[in-house]
Order: sequence, then C-alpha cells, then structure tokens
Amino acid sequence: MVEGLCAWPGCESAAEATLDGRLWCRTHFLDTAAKRFKEYDARLHQGEPTQAERDAITKFLLELMRQAPTLIASAKSLTAAQRERILAVSFSATELYKQAQREPREPRNLPILIYREEEAEGRREPALALNVSKLGACIATTGASKAGETIWLQWPQNTQRAFARIVWSKRIAASQYLIGIEILDCENFWETGDTTPDAG
Ligand SMILES: [Zn+2]
Repeated sequence: MVEGLCAWPGCESAAEATLDGRLWCRTHFLDTAAKRFKEYDARLHQGEPTQAERDAITKFLLELMRQAPTLIASAKSLTAAQRERILAVSFSATELYKQAQREPREPRNLPILIYREEEAEGRREPALALNVSKLGACIATTGASKAGETIWLQWPQNTQRAFARIVWSKRIAASQYLIGIEILDCENFWETGDTTPDAG
C-alpha cells in the first residue's frame, strides 16, 4: 500500500499508486497515465525514437503495467467506471510496450522500389530504405502516402517482394516524404536483396 498524499497540485487525496516517480490518487494516476501515454504514443509513431527515448518509454510503460493491477487490487471502493478506465489504460500500455520493444533499426542506404496494389503492372517508384529492422524500415519516397495504407516493396535487382503497411508518414520537403513501414508477409525481406555472390 502506498503512503502519502497525491502529488497533483491542489489535490489532498491519499495516494493510491505511483507513476513517473511520484505518488497519485486514482484520479490523477489516470490523468498522468493518459497524458504521458499520448506523448509516448506520438513519439513512437512519428519518426524514429532514439534508444534513450525508447528506454524511457519502456520504463514508463512497465511501471504502468505493474501499477494498474496493484491499484485495482488495493484501492478501496473503486467505481465500475474507474475500474474500467484503469483496465483500459493497462491494456493500452501493454500494446504500446510491444511496439516500443521492436528491434532498433540499423542505418542503411538501400535502393528499393515501392508500388501500390493497383499499380502492380505499372509504375514502380524508386525509393531509399534509410534504416531497417527485421520487420520494419524508414523509407525516403517522392510520393505522398498515408498511415494505414499498404504498399509492396521490391528489390530493383530481383523479383523478391514484400507486402507492408505504412505506420507513419511525414512530409519533409516538396515531393519528399519519409515513411515508417511494417512488413506483414515476409520474415527476411532485407536479407533477400543481396545478389552479390559469396566470396567463398
Ligand atoms: Zn489526486
């Protein structure tokens, strides 16, 4: 059981849980969790977080995942609505934790072709994979894309391709975009582009 008062300015309720290194009552635990969660969710989905940012996000989410069930078990007379909110926060934290745990990406400069389903027989847009992880990549493109759209990736030098979903998209200049993608149907796509014969 947590002892002390809620850290929220002006709140004089007894603390019931900790988060971000401070004590909170149930109301302000949820407010603090929601605020941080929004920031971290945005950070993970708008560009590539640094390893330090990733570590901070992971640490926060682990604490949230531990504190939420503790709060439910120990807080006296939670209303059904409060209980629901705490469970929802805990569930979202678990989902975001999985996303934060994705492997960090290695910097690369791989020429790649991208196209959409309806363009399968036609245009292929040359693009550049700037960094890659097993099932992800950050790719520089000239065409506009939206988060949630799906694309195909293909190597210029062979026919190996992969189906991917755009997780985020950011315009960086006129006709220059960065997209974050998640590969959906191929476990080793980034290994299939190397057509250099083994040295022996
Ligand atoms: Zn409070």
